[in-house]
Amino acid sequence: MSKVVLIECKEYNLDFIYDKLKWGLEQLGGIQSIIPTSKKVLLKPNLLISADPEAAVTTHPVVFEAIIKIMKENGYQVKFGDSPGFGNPEKVASKAGLVEVANKYGIEQADFVHGKKISFPDGQICKQFDIADGVLETDAIINLPKMKAHALQRITGAIKNPFGCVIGFNKGTMHSVYTNAFRFAEMIIDLNNYLKVDLHIMDGIVAMEGNGPRNGDPVKMNVLLISTDPVALDTVFCKLIDINHAIIPTITYGQKFGLGSHDNIEIIGEDYHNFVNKNFKIERNPLKEEDSSSLSFIRKHVVRRPYIEKDICKKCGICVEVCPLPDKALSFKNNDKSNPPIYDYNKCIRCYCCQEMCPYHVIKVKTPIIGKILYGTKILK
Ligand code: SF4
Ligand code: SF4
Repeated sequence: MSKVVLIECKEYNLDFIYDKLKWGLEQLGGIQSIIPTSKKVLLKPNLLISADPEAAVTTHPVVFEAIIKIMKENGYQVKFGDSPGFGNPEKVASKAGLVEVANKYGIEQADFVHGKKISFPDGQICKQFDIADGVLETDAIINLPKMKAHALQRITGAIKNPFGCVIGFNKGTMHSVYTNAFRFAEMIIDLNNYLKVDLHIMDGIVAMEGNGPRNGDPVKMNVLLISTDPVALDTVFCKLIDINHAIIPTITYGQKFGLGSHDNIEIIGEDYHNFVNKNFKIERNPLKEEDSSSLSFIRKHVVRRPYIEKDICKKCGICVEVCPLPDKALSFKNNDKSNPPIYDYNKCIRCYCCQEMCPYHVIKVKTPIIGKILYGTKILK
């Protein structure tokens, strides 16, 4: 049976979180039973893109500090790092408030600029990855995901967060290879099965709902979740936002391919019923295989599409830069940057990288009218 510890935590108070995390880890047998002290440990927060801690895009620095304190007290060698979707890893970590904390404890930032191609013959769908040197140089990983809504996978949590171990623009390339939510989820499970992350601690004190994982709204969920099983942890996340875990591809493939369990879970600590937020804004319709069809009609007229709110677009071009397709599915018409970029929905694979990376909350996602007629819509936006 997989154990998930659910801790009530209403604010980012270091002493409180430190005490509660220590207690939570003891419920799982203690940190030393999970990771031997001889191992070099990587702390892997969510550093998706440059943002202040209050935006709820990145793992909060106080949660980061609490786990560092515990690791240092237990004599571990620790580094931290993540490869953001856009921007320099050190600058993104600095903006998130993590560099300041790391400096206080003498923790180095691991190398997430360089990496190596590794082969993983056991992968179901993906047999090689471009992994950051900072990951390859450590022996154990503690995953520190943020609780957020996600346009492609519905949620981003413990299973999705290790995607930042893939360096730089190779992440975008993965989107162009695994071009729908189901194949992408299978790839993410392969990545998790390669990385064998040791421990997952989710920051759900202030989560992100709506237009996540970058441009949604902060919402208090008042919880920390701890588990060695990312599938079980994300399943509890689903219970807390009252969404059926069976519609989340990373969870179903996670159990199918041996990463963890969604149906054999013991929740330790608080009663989750006391924390359920039925109004958490998230796309609640199940993903359908036909949504993932490469047929251009389906893609163009049924599947949720990104769009730019033209009046507030700053024309910075980041969305164009991050589009993973070699011949870009959005671009400035005639290279004229005085107008917002324009989508070519025939080419667009609906990976939502542009929506994730727009720094100005300008790109939204909506279901085309034919899609609404066919499937209805339960999205709360
Ligand atoms: S990233 Fe956002 S603000 Fe920048 S050009 Fe694209 S839509 Fe406009
Ligand atoms: S336009 Fe946006 S959603 Fe479409 S392929 Fe490019 S990055 Fe992905």
